[in-house]
Amino acid sequence: MAVEAARATMLGAVTPLGPEDVDLAQALGRVLAEEVVAIRPQPPFDASSMDGWAVRSADGAGVRRIIGESAAGRGFEGEVRPDEAVRIFTGAPMPSGADAVVIQEDARRDGDLVSVTTAPPGAFVRRAGQDFPADARLLGAGARLDPWRLALAAAAGRAVLKVSRRPWVTIISTGDELAAPGSTPGPRRIFDSAGPAIAGLATLWGAAPVVRLHAEDRVEAITRVAADAGGDLLITIGGASVGDHDLVKPALSALGLRRLVESIALRPGKPTWFGPLADGRLVLGLPGNPASAMVCAELFLRPLLLALGGADPTPRRAWARLAAPLKANGDREHWMRARLGHDDQGETLAHPFGDQDSSLVTVFAEADALLRRPPGAPETAAGATVEILRLDRF
Ligand code: AMP
Ligand code: MG
Repeated sequence: MAVEAARATMLGAVTPLGPEDVDLAQALGRVLAEEVVAIRPQPPFDASSMDGWAVRSADGAGVRRIIGESAAGRGFEGEVRPDEAVRIFTGAPMPSGADAVVIQEDARRDGDLVSVTTAPPGAFVRRAGQDFPADARLLGAGARLDPWRLALAAAAGRAVLKVSRRPWVTIISTGDELAAPGSTPGPRRIFDSAGPAIAGLATLWGAAPVVRLHAEDRVEAITRVAADAGGDLLITIGGASVGDHDLVKPALSALGLRRLVESIALRPGKPTWFGPLADGRLVLGLPGNPASAMVCAELFLRPLLLALGGADPTPRRAWARLAAPLKANGDREHWMRARLGHDDQGETLAHPFGDQDSSLVTVFAEADALLRRPPGAPETAAGATVEILRLDRF
């Protein structure tokens, strides 16, 4: 199956999780499950954008009698008549009768009088509704609440927001060779590095809780761990291909696994598989090599989590210039680890790492992006445009 078809099949099996209410203060990173509509204009009144003097522009330059003050949050109740001015501050309501502000740098006060320059109508005045009018649709369902969108929800006065529930993810690392970081491993064991990476990615992409488990390479052990695991989405790591010790699919068949995706024309990550269990939980089977698992997480786990969480799962696409020539690609889509830089013209350059072995955690830790080589891509010269996928590096 091609990568795109595999992703589409996976997304076709997703039912978005329902909504829940959260406080504005807890809403960072969540996906809106409703529209946020303005209940009043912003600003709600004509306001001064500077410290200065509220005047009638028709009066022109000259001396004004000071009749009061308008401060933010208070305002001035009276009316500005010809040759009168009100001392005004940033964000304060414009007094009635005044239609312009002369900034304080252009005015000179002398007791009860102030002499001002001319000011065209509307000078330094923020119109009511200049930011947004009442009834404006500020945010739509599916919007991810970043700090800038939170400002909009807050400006609309919203203390509670309806957001999509977060996907609950359980990750099962499989393999007799795996030792938990922190334990003292036997000489033939390696630390589980793919598990923490996938857990981190799932958390970045909105999952909670993210639970990590381990299962030995025995069919019954894997079946039992998976049967007891909760979650909307189960991710297994390792044991994905068809070797004697690749037992995950047989183990999950006992739980009614329907394999919708199996064997993808992809490098690394060919053994990746996907399907629902009889109880409706979805399972993404990732290969054990850390780089394979991390590439497949970018290509499949990210869209799955976004779709479960009510967000748009469409992959972000970007392009860069190839910094070094590449050999012709085989018949599988290849996602290479690459570092990004810039050329003299400010164009983004992608430097693929020389060693693309899928067991290397060092290379991924330095990569900024994945570089896509389409199936059957010919030999490609430096300078050619290539598709990249930027990693969510901190
Ligand atoms: P598997 O997919 O189980 O055949 O594993 C492929 C390779 O990845 C083997 O060299 C495993 O030792 C290694 N591997 C499997 N799971 C992990 C893991 N969680 N962390 C690091 N390496 C792993
Ligand atoms: Mg294994």
